[in-house]
Amino acid sequence: MRILIISDIHANLTAFETVLEDAKNDWEYVWCLGDVVGYGPDPNECVNLLRTLPHLCLAGNHDWAALGRLDIRTFNPDARKAVDWTRDTLTPDNTMYLEALPTTFVIGSYTLAHGSPREPVWEYILEPLIAALNFPHFETPYCLVGHTHQPIIYEQISENGDTEAIMPAYGQPRQLNGHRQIINPGSVGQPRDANPDAAYAILDIESNRWEHRRVPYDIAAVQKRMRGHDLPERLIARLEHGW
Ligand code: ZN
Repeated sequence: MRILIISDIHANLTAFETVLEDAKNDWEYVWCLGDVVGYGPDPNECVNLLRTLPHLCLAGNHDWAALGRLDIRTFNPDARKAVDWTRDTLTPDNTMYLEALPTTFVIGSYTLAHGSPREPVWEYILEPLIAALNFPHFETPYCLVGHTHQPIIYEQISENGDTEAIMPAYGQPRQLNGHRQIINPGSVGQPRDANPDAAYAILDIESNRWEHRRVPYDIAAVQKRMRGHDLPERLIARLEHGW
């Protein structure tokens, strides 16, 4: 079975729809690694669209923030403003959907978490050392995470835990080789790797073939909706720069 791997949609319906269009018939099921909402202008539209797809979805820190489950004083002021707007905008039904999301999921050879297997909602795996510290915290060969909004593969290369980062090769399927790996598909709705194109991946869970992908989308249309909701200018600007 081929899985569409998405993460960090962040209420960006245009990016989400563009990814679905780009991935066309290349998948049968969706694994969403969390942060469906937060930052962007379309929280209900994104949750509604996700709910029409055969899928499983994990909870992210922004999903929890929108539920009032987190102390958001650690968020920066722009993120906080977006959280408040998101909370006020979500329908009761979509709030209930987000409340029911699990923080981790183990399926076949894969462990899924939003941030990391060690701290599923919070931890950012931004470097090989942090990845190395996380390998003892899951039992499957592979772990999929989002949260950093940066597509990457961390591979354990020796018995003593040495870990290296492998940059994604877009559009080129990669055979997962049995070495333990932590893989991030990147962000659909708010990329932060200096590339503004929406990121996602396709995974064949029988053959363990993974493919990172990127696709440009109509960023200006999203920015226009954000201005319409008076969302912070910095959050509007960052979409076109990918940070
Ligand atoms: Zn996120």
